[in-house]
Amino acid sequence: MDRRDIFELSLAEIESWCAERSLPRYRAQQVTSWLYQRGLRDFQEMTNVPRPLRDALVTSFTIGSLELAMLSRSSDGTQKLLFRLRDGATIESVLIPDGARLTLCVSTQVGCAMGCTFCATATLGFRRHLTRGEIVEQLLQARPPTAPKARESSVDDGDLPARITNLVFMGMGEPLHNYAGTVGAIETLTSSWGVAFSHRRITVSTVGLVPEMQRLLADTQAQLAVSLTSVDETTRRELMPITKKYSVAELLAACRALPLPRRKRITFEYVLIAAVNDRVDDARALARALAGIRCKVNLIPFNPFPGSSLRRSDDVSVARFQDVVRRAGVHATVRESRGPDIAAACGQLVAAEERRARDVASASDSGSTGGAADLATAMSS
Ligand code: SAH
Repeated sequence: MDRRDIFELSLAEIESWCAERSLPRYRAQQVTSWLYQRGLRDFQEMTNVPRPLRDALVTSFTIGSLELAMLSRSSDGTQKLLFRLRDGATIESVLIPDGARLTLCVSTQVGCAMGCTFCATATLGFRRHLTRGEIVEQLLQARPPTAPKARESSVDDGDLPARITNLVFMGMGEPLHNYAGTVGAIETLTSSWGVAFSHRRITVSTVGLVPEMQRLLADTQAQLAVSLTSVDETTRRELMPITKKYSVAELLAACRALPLPRRKRITFEYVLIAAVNDRVDDARALARALAGIRCKVNLIPFNPFPGSSLRRSDDVSVARFQDVVRRAGVHATVRESRGPDIAAACGQLVAAEERRARDVASASDSGSTGGAADLATAMSS
C-alpha cells in the first residue's frame, strides 16, 4: 500500500491512528510538534518517540511530497519558489519581504477554473485541487530555519526577516473552489498542535464564491479579501466570468450581510486596467457601491503577462482613482507590484511546466480548430 503523506492528516486523525495500534493518544502531539514546530523530516529523529512507534510511522507515512525545483530571486528581494508535486505537476509560491514583514503567498490549485481574463493562471485552465498537505508544505519549505536542529530550509535566508509573519492565499488557483484543502490547511497552520500561526495574519482571497465565503467565516477566523475589480455588471462579467453565477449586486449584498465580529473589515481588491475600469466614474461607482460595508480597498495596477492585450493603468490614473475613492470616505491603498522581473507579481503565476503543457495541448488542437488555437500558441510564445 502507498504510504500517505502525514501532512494530510489532522491531529484527530493521527490520534485515531495511534488508538488503532493501542498507543496512547498523546503520542500524536509529540509527532506533530516535531513535524510543525521543529520542522523534522525524518521519523527516526523523533527522540522522545519509542522505537516501535517510529518504525510504524515509517511504514505508514511519508513526510511531505513537494520538491523545490527552482528558486528565482527578484531584484527587489522577492523570491519565487517553483515546487514539483508528486504527480509531476508544478505550482509556485512567492516570499515577499517588506521591512520587518515577510509575507508568503501560497497556491491552492494547479491552474484555475475561474477564467478571469486579466490573470495568467487562468490561461492554464483547471488541472486539480491541491491537497491540505500540499498547501501546508509550501509554508514549511519556504520558512527560514528556526532552530539549529530544524531541517534545512529550501530558502536562502540571507536577507530575509527571521520568520514568515503573514500568509496570503493569493497564489495560483481559487482557494474557495478548493474549500476542503484550504480550510484543512488553515486548521493545521493555526492549531497549537500544528504551526500555531495567527489567524489574524492569514488572508484568503476569493473571486467571490458567496456560499463558501459565508462558510469560511463560520469555519475559520481568517481575514477575507474579495477580488471585485469592477462594480459594473457588464464589465465584471467580461473580466470575471464568475459574475454570471453571482451578480455584482448579489456579491455586495452578501458582503454587507457577512458577520464580521473580530475581523474588522473586508478587503476589496481592484485590479486597475487602462481604459477598462480606471476612470473617475469607475472610482465614484466603486465608492458608492461600497457605502455601508466595513471595508478597505486595495488597488492593484494590472501586471502584464505574455498573451494579454490588456494594459496597466498609468501612475496618474492610479493616483487619481485612489484619491476619488478616498475622498468618498473609503479607505484605499495601492499594492506595490513585487517581483515583476521574475513573473512573481499578482496574476503572473504560471509554473513553467504547466505553461509548456498548455502550449503542447493548444498546438495539438490546432489541427482541428484552426486559427484560434494557432493564435493562442503564437500569443503565448
Ligand atoms: N483566485 C483568488 C486568489 C488569486 S489572485 C482571487 O481571485 O482573489 C490574487 C489577486 O491578484 C486577486 O485580487 C486578483 O484579482 C489579482 N490579479 C490577478 N491577475 C492580476 C494581474 N494580471 N495583475 C494584477 N493583479 C492581478
